Amino acid sequence: DESEGEAEEYLFKVVIIGDSAVGKSNLLSRYARNEFNLHSKATIGVEFQTQSMDIDGKEVKAQIWDTAGQERFRAVTSAYYRGAFGALLVYDISRRSTFDNVGRWLQELNTHSDTTVAKMLVGNKCDLDNIREVPVEEGKALAEAEGLFFMETSALDATNVKTAFEIVIKEIYSSVS
Ligand code: GDP
Ligand code: MG
Repeated sequence: DESEGEAEEYLFKVVIIGDSAVGKSNLLSRYARNEFNLHSKATIGVEFQTQSMDIDGKEVKAQIWDTAGQERFRAVTSAYYRGAFGALLVYDISRRSTFDNVGRWLQELNTHSDTTVAKMLVGNKCDLDNIREVPVEEGKALAEAEGLFFMETSALDATNVKTAFEIVIKEIYSSVS
């Protein structure tokens, strides 16, 4: 810290990726507005939301991007990934196929990013434990093998949503400060 009263500003881009209907838009609306939509249609309009958090007394802003219904493989453009310092790779614990596709999303992310990206593997819909198709251990093991943070979340009941975003944002902050 060189001079008193000089405001430092931090703004990091974070992207959310993963198959259609895994809960990406609801994770974002839960985090940014504490809202959940049971019948959410494909994302329209809003490209990103900005959310602030306090780290070491500094205001750190995350500009969090949501795919506007472009989840078909390769449909997400490079502009979406450009400048991202963090990523949430989301699958649905009740749909095995969405977990099987994580590797492709990770590859896409790596292809398009030119910096180190803080990555969190997110197993969403953990409230649906009774129809679970992906054991927690499998998520953990994949994350460990690929060097990702890991968390199971529920956008529905808010489990771990804030924590998942904040771990990524804190990791970015500590890597640049
Ligand atoms: P996206 O296509 O990845 O953006 O997924 P959406 O956020 O639009 O969610 C797809 C569907 O899954 C919607 O019907 C949501 O209500 C539902 N959903 C999202 N998150 C959860 C969750 O954590 N638990 C449950 N049970 N349903 C969820
Ligand atoms: Mg969506």
